[in-house]
Amino acid sequence: MDSLLNRIAENNINLLKLNTHQCLEFWLYIVDNFAETKTEKAYALLMSSEYEVEFNNLTNSIKHLHRALLLLDPSKDIELMLQIYSALSYRYTDIGQYQKALKYLHSLSELAVEYGDNEFYIQAILGIGNLCSIYGDHLKALRYYQKLEALSNSINSNNLSLRYRLYMIACLLDLKRLSKAKELLDECYALKYVSDDPQLTAQVLLYSAKLLRLKNQPETALNLLIQYRQEYSDQHSFPWLNKLFAVESAYCLIKQQRGEIADVIISHQLKRTIKYSYGYYIRQLLEVKSDALASCKNFALALECEKKAQQLTVEIIKNFPINELGGHSLRRLTRLELQLRLNISETENLKLKKVSDQQKDTVAKLQQDVFHDSLTKLYNRRWFESTFIKEILPTIKHYQLLVIDIDDFKSINDEYSHLKGDIVLKLVGKILQNSVSPSHYTLRYGGEEFLIIIPSGDLEHGKKIAEQCRSEIANYDWRDTLKDRSITVSIGLTLNRNKEDHKATFLRADKALYQAKRSGKNKVCSY
Ligand code: GH3
Ligand code: MG
Ligand code: MG
Repeated sequence: MDSLLNRIAENNINLLKLNTHQCLEFWLYIVDNFAETKTEKAYALLMSSEYEVEFNNLTNSIKHLHRALLLLDPSKDIELMLQIYSALSYRYTDIGQYQKALKYLHSLSELAVEYGDNEFYIQAILGIGNLCSIYGDHLKALRYYQKLEALSNSINSNNLSLRYRLYMIACLLDLKRLSKAKELLDECYALKYVSDDPQLTAQVLLYSAKLLRLKNQPETALNLLIQYRQEYSDQHSFPWLNKLFAVESAYCLIKQQRGEIADVIISHQLKRTIKYSYGYYIRQLLEVKSDALASCKNFALALECEKKAQQLTVEIIKNFPINELGGHSLRRLTRLELQLRLNISETENLKLKKVSDQQKDTVAKLQQDVFHDSLTKLYNRRWFESTFIKEILPTIKHYQLLVIDIDDFKSINDEYSHLKGDIVLKLVGKILQNSVSPSHYTLRYGGEEFLIIIPSGDLEHGKKIAEQCRSEIANYDWRDTLKDRSITVSIGLTLNRNKEDHKATFLRADKALYQAKRSGKNKVCSY
């Protein structure tokens, strides 16, 4: 495919500058006017099919994929065949044609095994497990996913690692196994930063919100869901995700006794959902609508929704290839998997083992890297904005924020060198961390600015700690590092009041810091 992409590049077309609509037009144009070989045409059709999804045009997407399949040579175009089988299985699942979805998932798994491609094999199994979940058998779904445990260590793609965990989390949440779900979600937070698939990263938010709701924290959950609106819906709009976010928001609102608003949100989604093509989603929407109505004591309408949801369930089950998903199918996969492992030669197996050992640490390391500052090893700003704000903040009643800024730090860099500057930063981080108790959080927010978070409402206690930090640094023996100079810091301190937004707290602490600087530095000011 490189030659096609090179020829496109030679024509000075920058695909990154096109919007979704232009991309779709572009690839359709390539199919009929620019692609030279059948394989190139098939590739362009695959690309077009992906863009059709963003316009909710699944039937067109499927048409392109079938057209592509006819163009391919099964002995040569393996990679494309795998991609197209995979895409077809997703599309048929989305439109509720589960028999066909399963057919392509089987084709995908067989071809993947034949060519020893374990990543596509994993995708196939995830798809099959997903079908079990749609049917409502989450335990069976989980059994499929667990089969992948041995292979999952060999996943090289961050997106697939994330997808694998997300599918498991969805099951675990439905089975109310919350602590295991939380464990996997933590891993997802790290993977989220290295994934480039917005559909996957959005799901991390969705499931985090669901977990919070199931833990009886609907307000925090709703804040997360609002973040989705802000971060995702402008650039990419995926109809199925919008529906799932609406469903989750509605459940949270019902928990807060705001069933009427939940009803409005769901009714809006229902209007935008094409009948029959989205049975699975419509059922979910109807179920939550029924709950919303019941919570407003509108029992008659609630019952009506419940009945409609029931009818849809019957329809889904009626067309469901459930017999093909039972023990027989699991055994068949075990045979395939055996073959997959045999296909991989001895040396490759050794290589795989090494990779898998490395991969076991990767997620842990990634978590470390993503949330820690590499110079001081303290938490970083990303940790503050995700872990602290989203996970810790909701669990604490009060906290005090110290914003600490090194005085005249620029001159250290100028007079000594950046290298020395870095050593000073490291030492300041260490002194700060040693000056506070382990229940406090110390982080490097950026540059020469540090934060300390004290989970207590006692301002006098906070002032004492701030003063302690200031004097520890001023009295430190800097001669080894800087010969005749010493280091001081200015500190702004404030209390988070009445659960106000963290940004307001931060702003006040920053103002206090400014006062400390203005009144001569090496000072603590509170506000
Ligand atoms: P003030 O007392 O008003 O805070 O003055 P200042 O010189 O400390 O503040 P200013 O904001 O002017 O300068 C901060 C300097 O910190 C500028 C930048 O080069 C330096 N800096 C930021 N990050 C790093 C880093 O990672 N390593 C080093 N060595 N220097 C850094
Ligand atoms: Mg500064
Ligand atoms: Mg400074």
